[in-house]
Amino acid sequence: MKKTILSALCVLAAMAVNAQTVSSPDGNLKVNVSLSDAGVPMYSVTYGPTVVIESSPLGLNTTVGDFTSILKLDKASEVGAVSESYDLANAKKASISYTANEQTFSYSKDGKAAFDVTFHVDNNNVAFRYKVYPQRDRLACLVNHETTAYTMPLGTTTFLCPQMTPQTGFARTAPSYETFYDYDAEMGKNGHGRGYTFPALFKVKAADTAKKAKNAQPENVWVMLCETGVDGSYCGSRIMFKDNVYTIAYPEDTEFGGVGQSAPGIMLPGYTPWRTITVGTTLAPLAETTIMWDLVKPLYEASQTYKYGRSAWSWIIRMDASCNYDEQKEYVDFASAMGWEYLLIDALWDSNIGYERMEELVKYAKTKNVDIYLWYNSNGYWNDAPQGPRGKLHRMNDRHKEFAWLKKAGVKGLKIDFIGSDKQQTMQMYEDILCDANDYGLEIIFHGCTLPRGWERMFPNFISCEAVRASENLSFGQHDNDIEALAATIHPVLRNAVGNMDFGGSALNKFYSKDNKRGRKRITSDVYALATAILFQTPVQNFAVAPNNMTDAPAWAIDFMKKVPVEWKDVKLIDCYPGKYIVLARQTKAGKWIVAGVNATKEPLKLKVSMPMLTPGQSAQLYLNDAVSTVKIGKKSAMDITIPSNGGFVIE
Ligand code: CA
Repeated sequence: MKKTILSALCVLAAMAVNAQTVSSPDGNLKVNVSLSDAGVPMYSVTYGPTVVIESSPLGLNTTVGDFTSILKLDKASEVGAVSESYDLANAKKASISYTANEQTFSYSKDGKAAFDVTFHVDNNNVAFRYKVYPQRDRLACLVNHETTAYTMPLGTTTFLCPQMTPQTGFARTAPSYETFYDYDAEMGKNGHGRGYTFPALFKVKAADTAKKAKNAQPENVWVMLCETGVDGSYCGSRIMFKDNVYTIAYPEDTEFGGVGQSAPGIMLPGYTPWRTITVGTTLAPLAETTIMWDLVKPLYEASQTYKYGRSAWSWIIRMDASCNYDEQKEYVDFASAMGWEYLLIDALWDSNIGYERMEELVKYAKTKNVDIYLWYNSNGYWNDAPQGPRGKLHRMNDRHKEFAWLKKAGVKGLKIDFIGSDKQQTMQMYEDILCDANDYGLEIIFHGCTLPRGWERMFPNFISCEAVRASENLSFGQHDNDIEALAATIHPVLRNAVGNMDFGGSALNKFYSKDNKRGRKRITSDVYALATAILFQTPVQNFAVAPNNMTDAPAWAIDFMKKVPVEWKDVKLIDCYPGKYIVLARQTKAGKWIVAGVNATKEPLKLKVSMPMLTPGQSAQLYLNDAVSTVKIGKKSAMDITIPSNGGFVIE
């Protein structure tokens, strides 16, 4: 009884300092927390005068209790300040400062602590996670489902990527985040019936008062939903649209070949991953967000200083047939001539080159200052992808043997393909592979895989994930080429905004084939290829530039690709409308800014490009209309640029 009175007093005390609203440090972003008559914890989010998430439920149904209703708010903690500065060598920003306000709401059911919800609110991000408490002697549970939802206001339009059907696609390897986005689509659909993958983008109509405000007349507020901090301790989630709300959903039973449960298991007390909501009146706070790293910590120390760089990759132009000794040697020489640090040798090297000759090839590459990445099939027993090497990584003992050989041979990294599941068991495999690889100084790229959720910081040897409809589809089908530029206008503010992205682009071939005369036709310009080398970010970038491009592509394009950076200090979004155009600037580690833009519309697009990071009067190189020229940056650091349809520009 005493306890109840005490906690009631705490509630009153906390409420007296406005406990039900958690505000950002600048006061513009607010989370409002309430309890419905049915005892359902509810939250809503406002940005300035605009409601961006309407009142939506929170809660979990677990095997130790149904914590979705008939709950009581026991306590709201005082609002605390969170702040941290940290460095990140393998991501879009090198030095990051995070400042947020934090508040925890504690709920009980039948007089026993059920869960806490902790909110972090910074000027552009809301994040929250649950802490579930032990129930009697139960110290572990499954979370059957969550009622966590996002109610988007009427009139909101969506930019979403439908979840793929498990056990479909090539050799039953789906889902792997490789569908097309819908651009500016009305709400109401549920993808292909199984919802949408993170990150999810919404355009919410700004409140009238916001439109009338002086000096700022935002028409829209952009909202990005994602999650972070997912490793073997939970599954990856997606969102389902049902009854006019988007609700958190867990993986489907059939993922991962039906192996492993879809409901995550947690120790008690235990946490769910952080769910994040990133908000801005432009897309800049989304493109520039670091929320997925602000909320996580490194899981281990790097065993060494990992090296990043540009990488040649034969497979995208020459496919499986090129994975032989002679052509890979040709590609080593090509990478060396480009001054690139890496060569990725793709599938089937184990049978076409073999382990012994691979050791020779790695040695030869070292004499040319080129380091090698090798492709691996993740299988396993969860799909039918036949390419070798397979069966080498999914069990610990085999994995250590393979990693020991890779280290001895001098290989620097692995590209691991065909994983296709977000189940907790799969997340544990990602974690195990990354942890073990670090012991051998190996860097990791995943393909046919999940979205990285904070992994750049959690795993120091993590390089990137595909988790995007990537360049392979440009080789497989013409339609992807016909709409290629669309992707470049959305990835930097969405998929690539939350994590490193292995797209494998910047082809300078006219056709996706070795002789550059047949196959799928590229309709984007050569400057577009250069622009996407800047727009798409990953610290080991596998480029589709081919040896023949040394002679059949423009010299200015090759010269640009020879010195293109892949390590960055900072990023600024200048202008963007997903599906139409984008202009974005990245700052090199040396401090130089490079501005890149792409036009995906059918007509030339005239833009007044404002580049406050450049100095008025400074001279710069402008790549535009398939030529390069020296220009002077105008007054107010602005420049009128007309970008051709399916073309781009770069200023450096
Ligand atoms: Ca793929």
